[in-house]
Amino acid sequence: MVFLPDHKPPSSEPRQALWFVYQEQKLIIKVKDKTFSIPRSPDLQQLSHAPIRNQYLGALDGQACYAAELPPDVRVPEGWTVRGLRELFGLLEDEIFWLAGRANQLVDWNKSHQFCGRCGNHTENKNDERAKICHQCGLINYPRVSPAIIVAVHKKNHILLAQNKRLRTGNYSVLAGFVEPGETLEDCVKREVFEETSIKVKNIRYFGSQPWPFPNSLMVAFTAEYAGGEVNANEAEIGDVGWFSADNLPSIPPPISIARWLIDWFKNNY
Ligand SMILES: [Zn+2]
Repeated sequence: MVFLPDHKPPSSEPRQALWFVYQEQKLIIKVKDKTFSIPRSPDLQQLSHAPIRNQYLGALDGQACYAAELPPDVRVPEGWTVRGLRELFGLLEDEIFWLAGRANQLVDWNKSHQFCGRCGNHTENKNDERAKICHQCGLINYPRVSPAIIVAVHKKNHILLAQNKRLRTGNYSVLAGFVEPGETLEDCVKREVFEETSIKVKNIRYFGSQPWPFPNSLMVAFTAEYAGGEVNANEAEIGDVGWFSADNLPSIPPPISIARWLIDWFKNNY
């Protein structure tokens, strides 16, 4: 599948467009014979209320794709369901899943930037780019993306894994945290690892990145080597932390996330 992003919708709405419609952060999908599918334009007529606040996403294999919202009090018809994005991994094709994630980010941004944050007037979609503009004071808002680092720290053939208190799964994972204004990604790696575990790292290397639409992160992944210090968990954030060898890993995140790809990288190399 090839997706070409674009902010400008076709002049007339194509009859078979795909609609990624969210109702309070949950995606509306059709279910037939236990198969989940994204509704197309004609399907929307089954809804008792038309989707609102559309954003054009672009074209997937030449098919127009839209993101939109459904007001919270509208009930979906029989044969449809409303599901949180995380629940849909594995139930939708991968490309469709990540496109639904992109739609989630844009719906969230679109909804929370209807008014200017500086002067309070209504905003409008900008014609020449994906942005919202206030014609009163000229303020422009772009879709918000919040960069975060995620890092696999290893000490010879052991990897540093921690249980994050905010996650209810109990899984152990690599360390992660949001980038602060004025910080390089490498500075952020050093700060986060030190704040969470009191150790220092060196040889920080870029690994890859992944959009993480819950609701608008961009995970930038690194590997790093232990450089010094004793592991000491920051109790406000971390339940348990330790060094693990590849043949003795605790429960780790599912294959959807770059956290897991980092752990798999460690397993394959050490
Ligand atoms: Zn304004």
